[in-house]
Amino acid sequence: MAKATHNGICQICGSEQAVNPKTGLIAAHGYAVMYHQQHNKCHGGKQLPLQVETELARQYVDFLQDEIESYQDELEQGVDEVAISVPVPGTRIFQTKMVGREEWEAQNQQIGWRWENAVECRRKDLVRWTALNEHWIDGIEERINRYHGDALIPRKVAA
Ligand SMILES: [Zn+2]
Repeated sequence: MAKATHNGICQICGSEQAVNPKTGLIAAHGYAVMYHQQHNKCHGGKQLPLQVETELARQYVDFLQDEIESYQDELEQGVDEVAISVPVPGTRIFQTKMVGREEWEAQNQQIGWRWENAVECRRKDLVRWTALNEHWIDGIEERINRYHGDALIPRKVAA
């Protein structure tokens, strides 16, 4: 593969990545934490850089906005389910599952946790996730304004 001569800004996470000179797409990359989830791979990898294209960034803003709406709906309607981690059979992986009071109490009462506390935790999560999504949306919109339409960034070449 030809050596990259320019860097571009990732539409999703805003990091600076090498642009493949043949395809115009930025390199695959990961990151540690994105709002409330951990990801190994950024969805902005192998996509056009923000200087060239904003479609993916705008789709992601819409996705974050939809999530905010669902968090707000849940808060307004009253939390009646909470998330628990359940092991996936035959693996060491845990999965999140939403359960109602009855199922939750069957699993948690013996350890002295109260349902009301679990609901309060869920409420706090929803408030926190809303704020984090809003923060991400602000960042993406700021980066669209700052970088879209700009030239790609020349990479430093070793002398
Ligand atoms: Zn990225």
